[in-house]
Amino acid sequence: MSEKAQQELSDAKNIFTNTDKNPSNILPEKLTLDSTLQFECHPGVSCFTACCHNIKIILTPYDILVLKKRLNLASHEFITQYTEPTYLEKTDMPGVQLKLVGEKNGCPFVTPEGCTVYEDRPTACRYYPVGMADFHEGGAEDAEEQKFFFLVKEDHCKGHEEPKQWTIRDWRADQGVDVRDEMNKEWLRLVMRRKSFGLQATLSEAAKRMFFMASTDLDTFRKFILESSFLDTYVIDEETLAKIKEDDIELMHFSFQYLANTLFGAGEMPIRQEKLQAKIEEIKQRQDDSLLKAERDYEELKADRDRLMKESEEKKG
Ligand code: SF4
Ligand code: SF4
Repeated sequence: MSEKAQQELSDAKNIFTNTDKNPSNILPEKLTLDSTLQFECHPGVSCFTACCHNIKIILTPYDILVLKKRLNLASHEFITQYTEPTYLEKTDMPGVQLKLVGEKNGCPFVTPEGCTVYEDRPTACRYYPVGMADFHEGGAEDAEEQKFFFLVKEDHCKGHEEPKQWTIRDWRADQGVDVRDEMNKEWLRLVMRRKSFGLQATLSEAAKRMFFMASTDLDTFRKFILESSFLDTYVIDEETLAKIKEDDIELMHFSFQYLANTLFGAGEMPIRQEKLQAKIEEIKQRQDDSLLKAERDYEELKADRDRLMKESEEKKG
């Protein structure tokens, strides 16, 4: 394997593969959609649900949306109850991961019989054990060529000993990964963009809070659009406005567009120039109400996490 290919594989620990602790679990082979995978996971494997413990499951905005709907919770209730804060891909962009629970440090949705939210399980659970490396940041013509897959093989996972064979394409279709990729695409692009800028240029605290609110708490983001001075500032056509009032997925896509525009100056979000100057102070004031709430949730989550970490360290010590 060429040096470049080796480097790409070692960089390939993507956001959905929990391989940070031991990157050697990534097999040194770049796979395509037509490559063969020998693997099956079912309740009969001796390791059943082993991978649902001691794991880092990052949630995408779409994962949150689907899970909170399934559990019939508002987004802030879901993130407070089931998640804890994390940073995405070693950037300063705040996101959430599933909060592990119990003595076995397990996912809150795992039972001995399996996953209780299986049909709506997060993207990361669907990917395992096939990761995808996608280095382009968006818009590149050779985007498809830059994409490849890789296999994660961990000792505890006995699914690799099962005889069933698939192509990577069929495996991904079976796991519903393609749909998730489409839904997560723009959000991932934001994270990769941020990563490509490096940490020298830090995001302001307000920008981080806005990113957190718009990508984890869509209910609050909707209020922010409809009840703050947002609509006095941005020109949003009637059709889009009607959709984002009713439809969470439309709102999610709108949030990506808004974040790309405000954080990276990408795309078009026309501003009502005539009102802009006079409104700046007022907007700051009004945004603060929505932002403060998002910030409070985030700070609570952080404090909770710190307390748990301290308790666990004290136990170990
Ligand atoms: S959501 Fe389901 S599949 Fe994913 S870690 Fe939790 S129990 Fe396992
Ligand atoms: S460790 Fe592997 S085979 Fe076992 S339950 Fe998890 S994915 Fe399935």
